[in-house]
Amino acid sequence: MTTRYKTRAFVFKKNDANESDRVFSVFTDDFGRLDIFAKAIRKNASKLRSGIDIFFVSEIEFIQGKIKKTLTDAVATKKFGNVYCDLEKFEIANKIAEVLDNFVKGEQKDKDIFNLLDETIERLNGQVKNKQLVYYYFLWNVFSLLGYHCEVQNCANCHEKLNPRSIYFSAKEGGIICEKCFSNDKSAKIVNSDIVKILRIILSKDWQTLSKLKVEPAYQKMLSEISENAFNSFCPS
Ligand SMILES: [Zn+2]
Repeated sequence: MTTRYKTRAFVFKKNDANESDRVFSVFTDDFGRLDIFAKAIRKNASKLRSGIDIFFVSEIEFIQGKIKKTLTDAVATKKFGNVYCDLEKFEIANKIAEVLDNFVKGEQKDKDIFNLLDETIERLNGQVKNKQLVYYYFLWNVFSLLGYHCEVQNCANCHEKLNPRSIYFSAKEGGIICEKCFSNDKSAKIVNSDIVKILRIILSKDWQTLSKLKVEPAYQKMLSEISENAFNSFCPS
């Protein structure tokens, strides 16, 4: 007898296969990441079509075959319409998908990642002043959940108190480092106390404060650079 599995899934990637099939990469409530084969879903008559698409949260049902998992039912529970209508929001959703695709490879249940993902996309879909901060909120918190916690209180290497006039971000040491430790890691990027403040707010998951924050363009650029640096340094592949 074939076992059917049912779970809630966030869809972060889709690839067409064969003439009318599609493979969805989803992050689920019960199994972590799954890659699911949807047979004939691109045909107009497919009953699965309306229930699953990129950036939906769907209740899905699938069967486990010898090699692949096949989708048997899908009901969309959240469609995040604003993410589709706003190019910047859509691009941020794609960046979040890229993080998931690169950092989450196998099946491993992680309720915290699912909740963070759900919360992040809800925020992105809602009224938000600085949309890029939604991405950084997701990125640095998902790094923490994946075991790359960023040290922002004391120096990540020597644990001394940080002097706000001379601080750096070191992906190698996993956080902010002091001037003395910078001499041992010249790849570290210079930052300032505002960046550390933003990272502290992000990591304490204080969205209320973060959403009201006005970030100078130069600081936003700095945040973008260290985020990219962390992404590339922590990325498993
Ligand atoms: Zn130090």
